[in-house]
Amino acid sequence: MHLDVRCKYLAEYSTTQELAEVLNAPEYKQNRSMHIGGGSNLVFTRDYDGMLLHSKIQFINTVNETADKVTLEAGAGIVWDDFVKYCIAHNYYGAENMSGIPGEVGASAVQNIGSYGTEACDIILQVHCIDKHTGKTEIFSNPQCQYAYRDSIFKNEYYNRYIVTSVEYTLSKTPRFTLTYGPLREMASTPMLTLNHVRETILAVRNSKLPNPAETGSVGSFFKNPIIDENQFIALQAAYPLVPHYPAGEGRVKVPAGWLIENAGLKGFSIGGACVYPKQCLVIANTGNATPADVVALYKHIISTVSNKYGIELHPEANII
Ligand SMILES: Cc1cc2nc3c(=O)[nH]c(=O)nc-3n(C[C@H](O)[C@H](O)[C@H](O)COP(=O)(O)OP(=O)(O)OC[C@H]3O[C@@H](n4cnc5c(N)ncnc54)[C@H](O)[C@@H]3O)c2cc1C
Repeated sequence: MHLDVRCKYLAEYSTTQELAEVLNAPEYKQNRSMHIGGGSNLVFTRDYDGMLLHSKIQFINTVNETADKVTLEAGAGIVWDDFVKYCIAHNYYGAENMSGIPGEVGASAVQNIGSYGTEACDIILQVHCIDKHTGKTEIFSNPQCQYAYRDSIFKNEYYNRYIVTSVEYTLSKTPRFTLTYGPLREMASTPMLTLNHVRETILAVRNSKLPNPAETGSVGSFFKNPIIDENQFIALQAAYPLVPHYPAGEGRVKVPAGWLIENAGLKGFSIGGACVYPKQCLVIANTGNATPADVVALYKHIISTVSNKYGIELHPEANII
């Protein structure tokens, strides 16, 4: 969010041995702690009076390969988009729709990142972790991670307990595109479609809608898209016939939070230096001088405005600390 917040200690490590040393250090043992990645989904509401841990474990190894599949293990400190570029350079299919998502490999497995019809859990085979309580290594298979929409066991039952050290992803060596999302759909008929073509299309769409993290602070989508039951949706559609919606299984309906916010008249609305990003109302942007208090006041205002107008509760997708 480009907020001016500080932590008491920051510990960065490049190997699991160095991480073990950090976990034995008095500064770690005597303070509360939290692991961060690139910080692109974090909103610190005040200074952090403890130790932040950050992985610089950076490698990509091939751990298994067959005629049509490859399994790569990537260190948690690899920048996610560098991993995507690596896959594309080697003609491995499966990560390309997640081109341009900010952050690092470790967080991809915690957050179950996703975009344009694919999610990290579609390609994650297993996740290598260290248990903060015992210091022991544990490997979680994909089903053990309990993946759901932007969710995993690491955000719930095991919140702040396991440190991801590396992630194994299985990719296809034979062409296998996912072209279900709007701007990609028309590419389905492109002859000789390439991974680079898909990546460039996605990066162009992202750049037109989302703030560039190097210039403007944001966490991407601030809220999850709410999933409501059919009766609630029927009432909503009666009042707002143009409301966009997508089936979410079991008779439930997903409604874009960005539309609810924009239709509530909040496009461009700001409190202090925090504003509803006009090109995509799902994003809260730091216009340059936002304080943590501005961001908190704005997101709470959005939640109450949307709740009063539609009777729908928005929930932050961002990690608010
Ligand atoms: C402009 C913009 C666009 C975005 N677009 C998308 C998008 O299209 N799709 C999407 O899914 N997300 C998107 N995001 C959100 C963000 O990119 C993801 O949530 C990403 O996974 C965060 O990665 P990070 O490394 O910055 O993690 P952080 O934000 O630093 O941390 C996120 C969470 O992961 C935990 N964590 C991080 N590393 C580790 C580790 N090694 N071990 C244990 N826990 C760890 C943290 O404790 C925290 O709970 C966007 C963000 C921005 C700013």
